[in-house]
Amino acid sequence: MIIGSHVSFGQNGLKGSVEEALSYGANTFMFYTGAPQNTIRKNIDIKTTKEAWELMHQNGIDINNVICHAPYIVNLANNTDDAKYNFSITFLKSEINRCAELGIKYLVLHPGSSVGIERNIALNNIAFALNKIIAENKDVTILLETMAGKGTELGCTLEEIKYLIDNVQLKDKIGVCLDTCHLNDAGYDMANFSEFLNTFASVIGLNYIKCIHINDSKNPRSSHKDRHANIGFGTLGFDTIYNIINNSALKDIPKILETPYIGDTDDDKNRLYPPYKFEIAMLKKGEFNPNLLADIRTFYKK
Ligand code: FE
Ligand code: FE
Ligand code: ZN
Repeated sequence: MIIGSHVSFGQNGLKGSVEEALSYGANTFMFYTGAPQNTIRKNIDIKTTKEAWELMHQNGIDINNVICHAPYIVNLANNTDDAKYNFSITFLKSEINRCAELGIKYLVLHPGSSVGIERNIALNNIAFALNKIIAENKDVTILLETMAGKGTELGCTLEEIKYLIDNVQLKDKIGVCLDTCHLNDAGYDMANFSEFLNTFASVIGLNYIKCIHINDSKNPRSSHKDRHANIGFGTLGFDTIYNIINNSALKDIPKILETPYIGDTDDDKNRLYPPYKFEIAMLKKGEFNPNLLADIRTFYKK
């Protein structure tokens, strides 16, 4: 099983990400090239990047399974502010270059939000931008993430994702990243995952799936909320998630946890402890641990 989590890209860049992933017992990971909520980025450091590659090699992490996530504030859907729209395009071009320098093949992208313009026009804006961003000479594929449909988000139906793929010229540089929380919140039934995959196969094609985000959801199906829950502590539940990650169609697909950090108490806003080491172990074991949160607190609270 190829499984890991979101990790940070700190002072040591990719090297720090690898070290964090290894501390969780992961064999892959996902990172942002800086803070997810801004577009301030440093140049890639060659020395620590080479050390990161060596560390991955030594520990059996295949770089082809490692995922980069674009910051979520870039929006390719709305072009009412020319400067903002063009900045998003320029930024994502540079993000593709950073991925190529780091040797990373996949860049996950939220398709965008229409904010006040018609959805079909917004979809065309995204497709237009993608064709500017995708680079023929770079081995980096953009993965459109399936969204919850919060606010005016696009890409919350398979048909919208399909429309975008249809309108991208370089088909081998575009793919899909599923997200179990988002799919649930968008209205898809994760408890019937093979049925969902059948639908996906007929609308888009299974070969486009390159990554899956594994999250439980705090809200019921079709809620359009996008609030992630720890594995087994949400409306999907452990068994549903366990079934999804063990579906044979997703055998070679990297599975990435983006579940929330936890605090000292359930309502603690000061979320300090990463759940990933414990969630990965629980998913590998195949048995729900109702004391997961307490175990995590005990482990990190020293
Ligand atoms: Fe995302
Ligand atoms: Fe996600
Ligand atoms: Zn989300």
